Amino acid sequence: MSDYDVLVLGSGPGGQKAAIASAKLGAKVALVERRNMIGGVCINTGTIPSKTLREAVLYLTGMSQRELYGQSYRVKDEITIGDLTARTSHVVGREVDVIRSQLTRNGVTILPGMGRFIDPHTVQVSDGSGQERSVTADKIVIATGTTPARPSSVDFDAQTIIDSDGILGLEKIPRSMIVVGAGVIGIEYASMFAALGTKVTVIEQRMRMLEFCDTEVVEALKYHLRDLAVTFRFGETVSAVEKRKNGTVAVLESGKKIPADTVMYSAGRQGMTEFLDLPKAGLAADKRGRIKVDSLFRTEVEHIYAVGDVIGFPALAATSMEQGRLAAHHACDEPAHEMHQLQPIGIYSIPEISYIGRTEDELTEQRVPFEVGVSRYRELARGQIIGDSYGVLKLLVSPEDRSLLGVHVFGTGATELVHIGQAVMGCGGTVDYLVDTVFNYPTLAESYKVAALDATNKIRQITMID
Ligand SMILES: Cc1cc2nc3c(=O)[nH]c(=O)nc-3n(C[C@H](O)[C@H](O)[C@H](O)COP(=O)(O)OP(=O)(O)OC[C@H]3O[C@@H](n4cnc5c(N)ncnc54)[C@H](O)[C@@H]3O)c2cc1C
Repeated sequence: MSDYDVLVLGSGPGGQKAAIASAKLGAKVALVERRNMIGGVCINTGTIPSKTLREAVLYLTGMSQRELYGQSYRVKDEITIGDLTARTSHVVGREVDVIRSQLTRNGVTILPGMGRFIDPHTVQVSDGSGQERSVTADKIVIATGTTPARPSSVDFDAQTIIDSDGILGLEKIPRSMIVVGAGVIGIEYASMFAALGTKVTVIEQRMRMLEFCDTEVVEALKYHLRDLAVTFRFGETVSAVEKRKNGTVAVLESGKKIPADTVMYSAGRQGMTEFLDLPKAGLAADKRGRIKVDSLFRTEVEHIYAVGDVIGFPALAATSMEQGRLAAHHACDEPAHEMHQLQPIGIYSIPEISYIGRTEDELTEQRVPFEVGVSRYRELARGQIIGDSYGVLKLLVSPEDRSLLGVHVFGTGATELVHIGQAVMGCGGTVDYLVDTVFNYPTLAESYKVAALDATNKIRQITMID
């Protein structure tokens, strides 16, 4: 007899949902997590603090209202780091509370500490104060997430050379900042600091950024960020960061030297598998600390599952939750579908980006014909009311069967709006559904109808030429 039916390691989105879904299915469940990390990276250092910080920046700078009230409009003239962290701590505290309560009210036992395998069914939990206990379980779900990857040549400290975790510990808003790596996290923080008035330089080894997104949308984002005084250095590599009395100097391989108060590395993430002693469970991780799984999130050892960032792409809170739920259903012998093919991507840059389905470049490469329907927020009453003149929604439509092949949104509410397109695509709807639908007015959702009319008018043009 094992102590538990299901034991979950890590309380991020993947672990939480695995634990709660297992408990709902009647399993006896325990979850292992460090005392101060309930909610995982997502709640404590990643998604939630960064999105709260963004909201605080948008509110306090008054940025989203400047089109209406003038370029000098501010809610607060001197924004301090305290103004930003106050909101973040408030939200993080509340969220930790919500998650703890959800776990306990579903009867999940929380075992404080870090778990390490003793054998494939036994985990030793060390609580950090020298206390250790061993627990056994029939099924185990690894949801231990990741930590920021730190190049060994870089001398990280808390204030001048930091990774994304270090943002939350900054004592003041830097006057200048270098962001190394133009991935999603790098670009989100570059946007926030640029909005605060920090002079930001983004350095990226590759010649492009966010290649997986629509090219026009990325061009629009770069235009907006340059307008906020962001400098991009593409095709450049940082060879060294020198610490000086009043900040840092980044030396690039091309010979350029760039001074900045703070350098933030956003150079990928490493799976948290080192502590797990995976070989004792008959498992191994790759060199980035990631664990291989099949489509049901089973590892090579039949009763051990892995979900969330520790299994790699797409490494989002959104997907981790669903992986956790599906792994739990499988572990508890409850029928479940496989992960849905359609996955939304949301990037909380300023302005924000979101999409579902394929891009124009992908469709062209795959020789799939498509027509584009565009709606610009400035032509929507809601766009004028909220003062968003740059937002755009783009539908990619098949002229053959009129299905939606992709939805790309740039501007206010993009990460919410995309789900209308996702629902239509997921249910096999066509562009005609959007043409025939009545949307609330004035809304940004109306952009779907405008873009659908645009696409169908263009498709009709082809037949009208005869
Ligand atoms: C700055 C930033 C912004 C982000 N923004 C977004 C966003 O806007 N939208 C989005 O969807 N995603 C976002 N993400 C990604 C998102 O945070 C992750 O995809 C998500 O947190 C991964 O969830 P997870 O279940 O893998 O666990 P994690 O949240 O990574 O948590 C893992 C937990 O496991 C614990 N753990 C580790 N080892 C052990 C062990 N041996 N025993 C017990 N516990 C252990 C850790 O203490 C940690 O609490 C962002 C990430 C970062 C860093």
